Amino acid sequence: MNPNAVSERHPDLYFPDGDVILAVKQTPHSGAVEPPKYTLFRVHKFLLKHHSTTFANFFADANVAPAEVYDGVPLAEMFGDRAEDFAVLLDYLYNPTSLVFKRNDPNIPLTVSGVIRLSDKYLIEPLRRRLVQEVCAAWPTTLVEYDIKQAEIDSLRALPLNAPLKYRGRLADVIPEPASAILFAQEFDCPQILPAAFYTLSLIPITHDWDAKPRECHEPLAKWSLLDNENLVRYIHGFQSLNKYRPHPIQFLCEHCDVSWNMDGPAEPVNNSSYDYIKRLLDVVWDGAGPSVTHSDPIRLLAKCFNYYDMPELSEKHFPDGLCEGCDRLLSRRLPEERKRLWENLGEWFKVK
Ligand SMILES: [Zn+2]
Repeated sequence: MNPNAVSERHPDLYFPDGDVILAVKQTPHSGAVEPPKYTLFRVHKFLLKHHSTTFANFFADANVAPAEVYDGVPLAEMFGDRAEDFAVLLDYLYNPTSLVFKRNDPNIPLTVSGVIRLSDKYLIEPLRRRLVQEVCAAWPTTLVEYDIKQAEIDSLRALPLNAPLKYRGRLADVIPEPASAILFAQEFDCPQILPAAFYTLSLIPITHDWDAKPRECHEPLAKWSLLDNENLVRYIHGFQSLNKYRPHPIQFLCEHCDVSWNMDGPAEPVNNSSYDYIKRLLDVVWDGAGPSVTHSDPIRLLAKCFNYYDMPELSEKHFPDGLCEGCDRLLSRRLPEERKRLWENLGEWFKVK
C-alpha cells in the first residue's frame, strides 16, 4: 500500500477476530488533490473462500508470498475495486438479510451494478444471479405482466392528493426507471427486459427528466442523460414506428364484408356498415387520445377498443345496422391479437432483437 495513504477501518465490517485485512481504495472526490484513501475490512478468509474460488486462490497465493501485516494480521490490497461497492458486497455476504429491496425501487439498477461487477470478478455466481433477478423482476416480459404492472402504475397515478403520506411524493420514486434499466440490461445480459423498458421510456417526454422535476411531480420520469447515442437511436427508431402505427379497419373485416372491398376501387368500401363502424371505432379511440408530445400509446389504445359496445359514438342511434355477426366475432378476436402482435414487435422496432 502507498506509504502516504490514509486508511480508515470500516465501522461495521472490521471484525476483531477476522484473520485478514482487505484494503480497498475509496473513490477520490473529483478534482481534489489528496493522498489516496483506503477502507480497511477485517474479515474471515473462510467466508470469502466459501463463496468465491477466486478468493480461495487469492489466499492460497498470498500464503506463499510474505504479506504486509496490519493490526496483527496479513493485509492485502484489492486492486481495481471501489471501497463503496466492496462494502456492499461484504455486507451481503455477512448479512444475507440485507439483501432486501423496496419493490419497484427505481434506484436498484445503479445500486447493485457495482456489486454485480465484483461478483463477476470474484465469481460469486449465486449473488450475481440474485441481484440480476431483482432488477429483471421489475420489468414485464409478457403482455399480461405489462398490463398488471401498468394497472398498478395507473392506480398510483390516480391517487388523490390526500392519499396517506407514504403514497405521496414523486411518482417516479416508487416505479421502475427505464434508462438505468436499459443500461443494466445491456451490461449484465438480460435483454428480455429491453422491449418493456424502451416502450416505457418512449412514453416519457424528454422534458420529464429525473433530476429536473420536483417532489410533487406525479408523472413518470427518466434519467435521460444516461443514454448514449446508440440507445437514443434505438429510442427514436421505436418511437417513430409507434407514432405512425394506426390499425386499418380492413384488418378487422369478416370474409363476407371484405369482398365488398376492392383494391382497385374507391379508397373505402361503399355502403358497408361494418367497415364504417370499425373505422369510426378506430377514429374515436385514436383521435380521442388528444395531442401528446410522445406517441399515443397504441398498446393502451387497442385495449380501449375492446369496449366498443359501450361507446356512445357507436350506439344504435349512429349505427342502426351495427356490425355484421362475422365482423363482431372477428373484431373481438383480432383486437387482442393485434395488441399482442404489437407487443411482440417492440423488440424489433426498438432494434433490441
Ligand atoms: Zn362482416
